[in-house]
Order: sequence, then structure tokens, then C-alpha cells
Amino acid sequence: MGVPFIQKFRVGAYLMKQRLKGNKRFPLVLMLEPLFRCNLACAGCGKIDYPDHILNKRLTVQECIDAVEECGAPMVAIPGGEPLLHKEIGEIVRELVKRKKFISLCTNALILEKKLDLFEPSPYLTFTVHLDGDREHHDKMVCQEGGYDIAVAAIKLAKSKGFRVNINTTMFDGIDVPRMADFFTFVTHELKVDGINASPGYAYERAPDQQHFLSRQKTKQLFRDIFKRGKGKKWNLNHSSLFLDFLAGNQEYHCTPWSMPARNPFGWQRPCYLVGEGYAKTFRELMETTDWDSYGTGKYEKCANCMVHCGYEGSAVEDTFKRPLKALAVHLRGPRTDGPMAPELDLTKARPAARLHERHVYEAMKDVPLTARDKRWFESKDLPLPGNEPKAPRVAAE
Ligand code: SF4
Ligand code: SF4
Repeated sequence: MGVPFIQKFRVGAYLMKQRLKGNKRFPLVLMLEPLFRCNLACAGCGKIDYPDHILNKRLTVQECIDAVEECGAPMVAIPGGEPLLHKEIGEIVRELVKRKKFISLCTNALILEKKLDLFEPSPYLTFTVHLDGDREHHDKMVCQEGGYDIAVAAIKLAKSKGFRVNINTTMFDGIDVPRMADFFTFVTHELKVDGINASPGYAYERAPDQQHFLSRQKTKQLFRDIFKRGKGKKWNLNHSSLFLDFLAGNQEYHCTPWSMPARNPFGWQRPCYLVGEGYAKTFRELMETTDWDSYGTGKYEKCANCMVHCGYEGSAVEDTFKRPLKALAVHLRGPRTDGPMAPELDLTKARPAARLHERHVYEAMKDVPLTARDKRWFESKDLPLPGNEPKAPRVAAE
């Protein structure tokens, strides 16, 4: 089914308005993370590595509404953690639909069947189910046998009740390209999902499995190999043509993290959904006080291998507006899968990575009674317990 006409129309009108106003930086999709807690523990996940006190934090319904209204983006992605674990997720979604926001509610679908009655089908609501490949591959990636069957059954049920359902597939080094191509054909034509979000795995510094993340060169080649096998298969890829062309190495973009700002229980996260380098209290403060020029591939070490949508889909959309004919040509012929690639950004001048995650954790944990699991969290990282951390601890910039 693809993106509904009403969404294309409203988002197009929003973009046009921003351009007419001369706004250089504006949000396109709000990444609203109402909690970090999840009911899975995938090896590639960098979102759930927190002590209990932080995993138990939730954004309230009002905080979610305030974030959406303050930000003003026409689309809202609700990732996590697992958003369906939030007791008020039904109310959050209802309130955002009322405000005519296009919502992508991300879920691993383990409890989707149980929670489906909280929602009503609407062109404004799409479930985005984490599905990393066929049964064997998905179960391996989410470290849970049976995860694939539960997710596929939940997708079928949601579709039968009239909901829109996309899948989100994250790809890591070493995936089997022909199998992944068959999987995309299966989800498009048999499972009949409304869209596929295909994402290269971002190397979270805190993900337990650090071996299988892709460098940009490998990412580009992987997407070329996959797209080559997709010719004529009419996969329902849910990205702009130029973003797909970027993934295939044919466009060189700079990151535009403000296009997908992130709000989570810590606040407004700088610079993006993937990297937490500090938090602003308001969206305005985020936009006005973040040193945007110090982030992105070639500028900051942590961004070296990043090609994910929250940094680059906005860049592709901006390019589409500037060069509509180029975008149309790519749309008609599909991403180019051979020939020379666009030049890579220079990585040699990137500033070194700062290690800030633990600093935020200490800040959030001060004056909090520690559970046994919290203590284990610090011990497992060989960190002193809150209150005993050194003045300039290992969490300072390295
Ligand atoms: S389902 Fe998503 S949030 Fe949960 S552990 Fe896996 S990657 Fe992380
Ligand atoms: S390149 Fe952009 S989106 Fe990627 S980690 Fe850096 S700031 Fe975030």
C-alpha cells in the first residue's frame, strides 16, 4: 500500500512551508522514546544498557504531547525500548492521532497481539515491526527462539484488522545477501507489509556485539548487492529514492541530525537518536544551543560509519527538493548498483570520541537507592558506585 496519499500531501506541504519561510534547520520526524525498557536483549542494541532506575523511567502522556507540539514535526516515530510496555501507550497514540501526526509505532511485536485492542486502524498510525530477516536470521539477531513466528503472526493479525504495518530490518556485516533479498520479496508479496525500513546497523559504543557493524564502504556495497537482486521485484522500501541511492554509495551527503530530533526520559538528546552527548530541557534549547557543526561523518569519530536514516534521510529529502529531476530519475530507474561510487567524506580530521554515557548515568542515579541489579550494572563495567565516582572519572573525554 505504501505511504498514504494524505501523508505525502501533508508532509510535502510542511516541507514547502519550511522552505518558503527560509528555515535552514527544521524537524521532519520526531523520535519520541517514551522509555528504554525492553522485553528483548538483542546483541546489536545500544538502547537498553542502563541500571533499573533509568529503565523504569517513563515519559508521561503529557510530556509526549508537549514534545510533539513543541517540535511541530509532521511525523512521529515512537521507538524504545519496547513502547508497548508503556502502560499509557494507547492514550499517547490516541492523543497524537488526534493532532494528525503520522505515527510509526515501533515494536518487536512480542506483545502486539495482546495490546492490539488499545489502538484503532488509521492512516495516521503505522506499526513498525522489528523483523531482521527470515526465521533463522531474525531469531539469532534478537537472541530469542520463536521471536520470528510471534512477530509474523502479529503482523498478519494486525493487517487482518485493518492496521498499516511496516517492518524495520537492520543489517549487519556478514548477512546472507540472497536470503535477505528473498526475505524482502516474501514480506512485500506474501506478508504484504505496507513498507520496509532497511537500515545499516549503527555501531553503538554500548552494544554487546561490536564485531558485526558495517563500515560505510561495506554498507554501500551491501546495499548495492541487495538492490541488484531486487530489480523488478517491486519491494516496498519505505525511503526516499535519494536516500536509497545514498545507501548504494551514489550520493555523498552530510548528516542533518536536526531533521530527526530525539526526546527521551533524559530530555532532548543531542545530537541525535543514536548518540547521547548531552540533553536540552526544551526543543528550542536543543535547536539553538547544539553545536550542530561538530557532528556528522568526517567531523566526529562516533559518526565515522554512520549512514542511518535519522542522520541522512533528512539530507536526502532536502536534496530532493533542491534537485527534483535528479530524484525523479533515481525514482524511475532505482538506485545505481554498479560503476564508481561518490567520493567518501574525509575522516582524518574528525574530532576524537568523548565517552559520556556513564556521565549521564551517574547524573541520573545520584541520590537514588540502588537495587542489586543496579549495583551489578556498575560492577559489570568496573565502575565505582554513584557517590564514589572520582572527580574526573574515566567518563571524561578520552
Ligand atoms: S527489540 Fe529493539 S529496543 Fe529491544 S533489545 Fe532489540 S533492538 Fe533493543
Ligand atoms: S552521523 Fe549524524 S545521525 Fe549518525 S551518529 Fe553522527 S550525528 Fe548521529
